Amino acid sequence: MLHRPALLSAIAATLLATPALAQKQADLVISGGTIYDGSSPTPITGDVAILADRIVYVGPSAANPYAGKRTISAKGQIVAPGFIDPHTHADAFFMGKTAQERLVLPWLMQGVTTIFTGVDGYGQPGGKVAVGKLFDHVKTNGVGLNLGTYVGFGAVRGAVIGEADRPPTADELARMKSLVATGMCEGALGLSAGLFYAPQSFAKTDEVVAVAREAARRGGVYDTHQRDESSYNIGVMNSTREAISIGQQAGMPVHFAHLKTLGVDVQGKAAELVSIIDEARAKGLNVTADQYPWEASGSALEPSLLPRWALDGGRPAMLARFADPAQLARIRTEMVENLRRRGGAQSLLLTRPGLPWSGKRLSEIAAIWGVEPVDAALRIIRESENGTAVVSFNMAEGDIKLLMQQPWVVTSSDGSAGHPRMYATFPQKYAKYVLQEHTISLADFINSSTGRTADQFRLQGRGHLRPGYYADVVVFDPATYRPRADYLNPTELTTGVTTLLVNGQLAIDGGKPTGTAAGRPIRHIPPSGSCD
Ligand SMILES: [Zn+2]
Repeated sequence: MLHRPALLSAIAATLLATPALAQKQADLVISGGTIYDGSSPTPITGDVAILADRIVYVGPSAANPYAGKRTISAKGQIVAPGFIDPHTHADAFFMGKTAQERLVLPWLMQGVTTIFTGVDGYGQPGGKVAVGKLFDHVKTNGVGLNLGTYVGFGAVRGAVIGEADRPPTADELARMKSLVATGMCEGALGLSAGLFYAPQSFAKTDEVVAVAREAARRGGVYDTHQRDESSYNIGVMNSTREAISIGQQAGMPVHFAHLKTLGVDVQGKAAELVSIIDEARAKGLNVTADQYPWEASGSALEPSLLPRWALDGGRPAMLARFADPAQLARIRTEMVENLRRRGGAQSLLLTRPGLPWSGKRLSEIAAIWGVEPVDAALRIIRESENGTAVVSFNMAEGDIKLLMQQPWVVTSSDGSAGHPRMYATFPQKYAKYVLQEHTISLADFINSSTGRTADQFRLQGRGHLRPGYYADVVVFDPATYRPRADYLNPTELTTGVTTLLVNGQLAIDGGKPTGTAAGRPIRHIPPSGSCD
């Protein structure tokens, strides 16, 4: 038994020994921050130490055995895994000609370190099935963020059948399956689909199942912008059941992209949607979703307002139908109904910059031109060679909140040009739904933007702050991390991220981008033998 003075000297010896402990060398120590590790409901205060591209320590400062070549104080700031955005239209940035574009700053400045592209069935840029080429490009040229991608059902169908409204022949189906297999074996995360969009909308359920099986047997997920998020065709509830059944028949996880109830006919019905998914999960099916924290979606006039039969054969065939008075009358009638469904002409904000209608509601344009809103829409579609872009206000706050609170929902941006979600999704969720509305806790915000996402997609070594994991780390100031972009100024970069590490390298330092392109391809590894 120690005498009291002996006990004190033992304590003193321990204290003196602490600096001696700190003999191990790390490249960087982020010290004294409030650490959310990506899964815990509560934070700890302490250090994160980084050596090369990995985390080597997460815990209390007093027990940190590492001294950093550099130490960054994170006192009063939040330290978390870098955010993961599983649904983006960021392809153009990754393919960008300049090093600056390839930093992908709209996302980087929000604290995002990993992004998925190839979503909605579109596949790689230009609607291609080119997973391996995209990864090669990323490796050769350098990009700011880690990148995962999908092989796209639409890209596959388009390559084989074009834009026609018909089922594939047996030979065509075999070619589609082989293209999916190729994409999976080049490292795709799974098969993405956008059955809402023509020509993907022309595919029946069994065709999708047959093609999806090729992704399933190589460990892929079925990621879906579902056939109907509203009341356009089979209705959002039946559409949700269809997607679940595709996953069940193909034998693969189902992930709903940007889950929502869109438009006046289904607003307020998120609880029914949740119960359909909960029921499937209770049966043991792997069903998850992502969601963006905005009441407006981003789309185009064509899919929002035109009937699908008018798009059969692509734009030239569509324009020919516009020129035929009988067909135009039918199109107009269906457009009036689709406009009602989405909430009227006031609910559509036209966004493609540099055009006479940019920044105006469809209702305003119709008033200026002195025509009915659907005729204004038809004129804009006719005059927009490269397609239109709209922000469409069509979701109810109660639905957004209910979906956000589900334990199987993660954050996504669906980021695309013309909508502030590309620049400000993560701070928007934090500022609006954590601080202002108290819909979710800060830990929920972080977990649903990091660890839960990584776990859903089985990303190895990412999404959590744990020793041995890749050092994708965000440090943000809780008092200044805010969205600066809004619907009228959608391209303002987010502020408030003070430090960002991508694979252990500083991408943001002192609140400013460093220009370092430390992103890597995230290749899914198919089960052995499945690509022989
Ligand atoms: Zn989508």
